[in-house]
Amino acid sequence: MKVTVKKVVFLGTGGTIAGRSVDRSDNVGYLSAQVGVTQLLEGLPALAAALQGITPESEQVAQVDSKDMDWSQWQALYARALHHLQREDVEALVITHGTDTLEETAFFLSRVLPGDLLASKPVVLTCAMRPSTADFPDGPQNLCDAAVVANALGARGVLVVCAGVVHSARDVQKVHPYRLDAFSSGEAGPLGWVEEGQVRWVRLIHQHGGVKPGLRWPAGPWPRVEIVVNAVGMGGAAVRALCAVPAAPDAPVRGIVVAGTGNGTINHGMEAALAQARAKGVRVVITTRCALGQLVGARGAPVADAEYLGLSVVKARIALVLELLGER
Ligand code: ASP
Repeated sequence: MKVTVKKVVFLGTGGTIAGRSVDRSDNVGYLSAQVGVTQLLEGLPALAAALQGITPESEQVAQVDSKDMDWSQWQALYARALHHLQREDVEALVITHGTDTLEETAFFLSRVLPGDLLASKPVVLTCAMRPSTADFPDGPQNLCDAAVVANALGARGVLVVCAGVVHSARDVQKVHPYRLDAFSSGEAGPLGWVEEGQVRWVRLIHQHGGVKPGLRWPAGPWPRVEIVVNAVGMGGAAVRALCAVPAAPDAPVRGIVVAGTGNGTINHGMEAALAQARAKGVRVVITTRCALGQLVGARGAPVADAEYLGLSVVKARIALVLELLGER
């Protein structure tokens, strides 16, 4: 009988978790994305206990500060994640990532990886707020916690683990620029916590994965979708500038996500400019700049763009990019 050794694959993409500083006491002045994921795992003897007999494997997919993450790196990450999830011997993936755009990559993967694979094989993103060379780094604990979650009964979908908290890809947001516990799931709350090598789940995600029909990766740049925020004194100038014929190498704008005030309200000047944009074929999605809650329709009437309801502005932008990719 063939015995298969079960594996968790660690995919490295960079970030502060892989950062290095000259001064060990400096938690802010460092270079992100310097240490390879294999080296991070080698310096972590506690990982074996977290994995409980499952063998770690590692692969460097990118090495960037996550503010510089782009479509081509997402395409590569998607391809490698899919490849490993399809392997019979792989039980789960852990992805190391910078905190700044972690919620975007997590949401993207949750939208494009096949739901049937994610139903039994979790993809766990983790990160750090201090570089690997810090006197008191948080990365090692986060990596071990991510391994525990990857190996936990009931783990499914795309998850984020930071500072002992387990979040869903849909709800998680970076809410603090410095604190070790930099993420929040807002009103939805966390999925659970990692406590002394055990996961205490408080809820499970219902929807995991799903590939948009017709979705194909473009050979060139992905559809250009921009974000505009309504605020006091904002008129239509920004929207009109976005819709003007661009100078090379920029592509014409295909979509605009508006972070509206309150319940998605938009001032008159911007509203008029958005109407012109729509008339030119630009897809406009309205969200709210409020940190919590979602748009509410008058007296139960459906709010336009219901599929974007409850998504943060940056996640609505990803959903719109994927919608436009599916339409090509
Ligand atoms: N700028 C870093 C990054 O996102 C921040 C971090 O990882 O905490 O890669």
